[in-house]
Amino acid sequence: MLDVNGRRYALPKQPTVVVCVDGCEPDYLAQAVAGGHMPWMKRTLAKGTALIAECVVPSFTNPNNLSIVTGAPPSVHGICGNYLYDAETGTEVMMNDPKWLRAPTILAALAEAGKRCAVITAKDKLRKLLGKGMRGICFSSEKADAVNLAENGIADVMGLVKRPLPDVYSAELSEFVFAAGVALMRRGQADVMYLSTTDYIQHKHAPGTPGANAFYTMMDNYLGALDEMGCVIALTADHGMNAKTKMDGSPDVIYLQDRLDGWLGAGKARTILPITDPYVVHHGALGSFATVYLAEEDLSQAMACIASLHGIERVLSREEAARAYELPAERIGDLVVVSERSTVLGTSAARHDLTALEVPLRSHGGVSEQRVPLILNRAINDMDEFRRWRNFDAFELALNRAQ
Ligand code: ZN
Ligand code: ZN
Repeated sequence: MLDVNGRRYALPKQPTVVVCVDGCEPDYLAQAVAGGHMPWMKRTLAKGTALIAECVVPSFTNPNNLSIVTGAPPSVHGICGNYLYDAETGTEVMMNDPKWLRAPTILAALAEAGKRCAVITAKDKLRKLLGKGMRGICFSSEKADAVNLAENGIADVMGLVKRPLPDVYSAELSEFVFAAGVALMRRGQADVMYLSTTDYIQHKHAPGTPGANAFYTMMDNYLGALDEMGCVIALTADHGMNAKTKMDGSPDVIYLQDRLDGWLGAGKARTILPITDPYVVHHGALGSFATVYLAEEDLSQAMACIASLHGIERVLSREEAARAYELPAERIGDLVVVSERSTVLGTSAARHDLTALEVPLRSHGGVSEQRVPLILNRAINDMDEFRRWRNFDAFELALNRAQ
């Protein structure tokens, strides 16, 4: 047994694959299965274990991927968004650097115990965080042509996968993750694998649409191949995805910085959108979660004003948010703002370029995107499907209950 962040994990007896499908709102599976687009998934839901779990808030990619691999909430691992505001220096700092991760991963512990581990991510931004402290294979499909043994624990991924290097904005970026995972497993090079895709498709295509179904059919084929090789598979998601539009199809945005400047005076508060990252094409940097830094004396007025707006789900003080969402209090703002299902939060209208949005906005970040699938291809005895399962229970179920 391994002890990681206060939870115990058994060593796997069978090859084990944990899959994080980025932005996999459960309805994507429901629609694809019902439409006959995921025959493997249909069988797996019937004979395996099918749970709805909750992801962590903010329902963003990095906090949730790190929760899944540490088995713990952001209050433990420290990664609560893509950005951190350093109030001392007045600068926004990216939280991609592994130095911000303050808890060990289950993968690192498994590798330490002699298991051969492999991490494959779509975007390179997650690679170093997920692979922190882990001996083994770790690479992204984005930079698959630049791997080397010293940095990635593997050489010639392009020769392994035999597919062209995908564009960073494409469904192929995720397909490459699955193709590489299947190829590695076929070569017998991993005992435990963590596969993490990108939500490019989910930002653009609603559940049940041809674009979405094609993606899920692709995924179904690779999952079926892993299953055939005898792998225990646990599938979950980092967060869900919802349409964030007004009736005319334009984004339903509350520009929080503009509002705060109006209520308190220009520059008195600072709005941070932790979704912001260098890949903004899918979402125009708009999500349903924001944090605000401001002076103590402005706190209650700002909270009351924000709460009065249509489209706001919750506004919490730093301490309330840290408690409610298990966040590291010192890495979030004085206020945490969560918008409703169809509404997103922006800073200033002038700072968001929405011209890159090719289709009506779909995004995430809020409590409304907390529902995610948690599926295993093994039946588990005595499951309480009404327990409040979390996506970061995936490794525990896969290693302790499904072998
Ligand atoms: Zn994501
Ligand atoms: Zn996203």
